[in-house]
Amino acid sequence: MQIYDLAIIGAGPAGCMAAIRASQLDKKIILLEKNNLIGRKLLLTGNGRCNFTNTANLEVFLEKFGMDGAFYRDAFNNFSNWDLINFFQSQGLDYKVEDSGRVFPVTEKSKSVVDIIKKVLKEFNVPIIYDYHLKNFNRKSEIFQLSSTKNKVINTHKVIMATGGSSYTVTGSTGDGFKFSESLGHQITELKPGGVPLIVQEEWVFQLKGVTLENVGMSIEYQGKNKHLPRGNLLLTHFGVSGPVILDMSHEIVEIMDNYGDLKLKIDFKPEMNHESLESNLMEDFQKYSKKSLKNYLNYHLPQSTILPLLATINLDYQKKLNQITKKERLDLIKILKGLPLTIIGHLPLDKALVTCGGVSKKQIDPRTMESEVVKGLYFAGEIISGCGRRGGYNLQQAFSTGYVAGESALK
Ligand SMILES: Cc1cc2nc3c(=O)[nH]c(=O)nc-3n(C[C@H](O)[C@H](O)[C@H](O)COP(=O)(O)OP(=O)(O)OC[C@H]3O[C@@H](n4cnc5c(N)ncnc54)[C@H](O)[C@@H]3O)c2cc1C
Repeated sequence: MQIYDLAIIGAGPAGCMAAIRASQLDKKIILLEKNNLIGRKLLLTGNGRCNFTNTANLEVFLEKFGMDGAFYRDAFNNFSNWDLINFFQSQGLDYKVEDSGRVFPVTEKSKSVVDIIKKVLKEFNVPIIYDYHLKNFNRKSEIFQLSSTKNKVINTHKVIMATGGSSYTVTGSTGDGFKFSESLGHQITELKPGGVPLIVQEEWVFQLKGVTLENVGMSIEYQGKNKHLPRGNLLLTHFGVSGPVILDMSHEIVEIMDNYGDLKLKIDFKPEMNHESLESNLMEDFQKYSKKSLKNYLNYHLPQSTILPLLATINLDYQKKLNQITKKERLDLIKILKGLPLTIIGHLPLDKALVTCGGVSKKQIDPRTMESEVVKGLYFAGEIISGCGRRGGYNLQQAFSTGYVAGESALK
């Protein structure tokens, strides 16, 4: 009976990096992937441009993973953002840095990242079995026995589970690893979406799909509380809202909704002005341009397509001349310019989320090695681990770093 030293399940960024590191340690390894190619999700990342890491320092990296970000201190130290950048550079793929420290391949193509990984796996002679859809996973007298849907059996001393989360299931990440891990005694924390667009009640928003409200202020109102979100672009969609800030903050917003129900997203079109200065600004303008119609005047303040639907929310006639606007109407106008309320009634399903927040509990994983505390010889890497990072390249770095650590410690 052939027994491998290590089998790695899943050829996403985590599994591939684990295989690359493990292959340098001169042991018998195998990489198993249910698709007929590696990195299917990786190809989609960063809108096809692959924001593979960030130039931020370690403390910022940990912060981006929230409450238990400290779990990753060893992994990010062991294989840092600069180690990853150097790895790609040494293989001939240069990088570019964009706003907020986001790092992309200079080609701006995810495919170049996948191609480099494929090339390195080949150079390091990593055997890969494609179309290997793991179906059964057992442990018998210190040996793991794996079998596929086609009944191909693999025996191995160690296993790295790098099967990803359960979003964008079309890419192969269908949450299989959660089931296997649970059956071996691991706790799976609640699978919630991270990086997910939100659904709003106000139907007029749907007509404005594709419109971006640029650099607006945003806050969430629930149960008399107010949570400020970073300023940024808000994309209106055929079901609600999306865009960088929403995707970035969505797992916190989803958490609030789970606890408190529907909530209000308040949009501030004039975040650089407070109420008083906006009011005196409008009063001055209303005098200066008294013969102008409200609709024409608001072109200075709002994207054109939003003017009529917004005025409709306060029953204000867009044809009125500025000198016909009453004080109440002016105050209503200020109210929506400084805090247009949208009712958030839900979010798109987990499958449409960029990442799965939730997974194998970190409490059962040794952060220095990524080895399970429950089943010796079993390691975890990538998105299968509970929690998720913010957008900005942090999640891919997490996959590469934990993959590297798991690949190294499984064979050392
Ligand atoms: C549209 C989109 C854009 C994104 N953009 C970015 C970005 O720009 N930057 C960033 O940092 N993050 C981004 N992410 C998140 C990032 O892609 C993931 O965090 C990352 O891919 C996780 O890597 P992984 O190796 O853990 O899992 P995955 O990439 O999901 O890989 C898991 C692999 O395991 C295989 N597998 C699953 N079950 C089995 C089984 N039973 N048998 C055999 N194989 C199996 C799957 O087929 C898959 O190939 C994005 C995600 C999406 C969906």
